[in-house]
Amino acid sequence: MDCLFCKIIDGKIPSKKIYEDDQVFAFHDINPQAPVHFLVIPKKHIATLDDVTEEDRAVVGHMLYTAQKLAKELGCEAGYRTVFNCNEQGGQTVYHIHLHVLGKRQMTWPPG
Ligand code: 5GP
Ligand code: ZN
Repeated sequence: MDCLFCKIIDGKIPSKKIYEDDQVFAFHDINPQAPVHFLVIPKKHIATLDDVTEEDRAVVGHMLYTAQKLAKELGCEAGYRTVFNCNEQGGQTVYHIHLHVLGKRQMTWPPG
């Protein structure tokens, strides 16, 4: 499958890995939008949040739990933001779901 993030999981494309287990993989974003900006992705290829099925519920929960653990490890005790972009109007550019985690700067609302 021609998927950038599947290739990152397989090590065919290098990344700055932070964490990996049997279900998820986490790595620093190549174009960080904050001093801390990493992505948590499932090892299973799921194209968009709309493609999540009942059987994926546990892994999506595990993505959020992993985000929380790693944000703390990376010094985001003061807070952080988590984002899923879904499809074109949601700003999604890579079609393998990923949870953005951004921290170590003040976030504003609403986002652009
Ligand atoms: P999206 O816009 O789909 O929500 O986010 C995709 C993210 O993947 C972007 O923040 C982008 O910087 C990041 N990204 C795209 N290509 C690569 C890559 O090859 N390596 C890494 N580490 N991040 C990437
Ligand atoms: Zn994929």
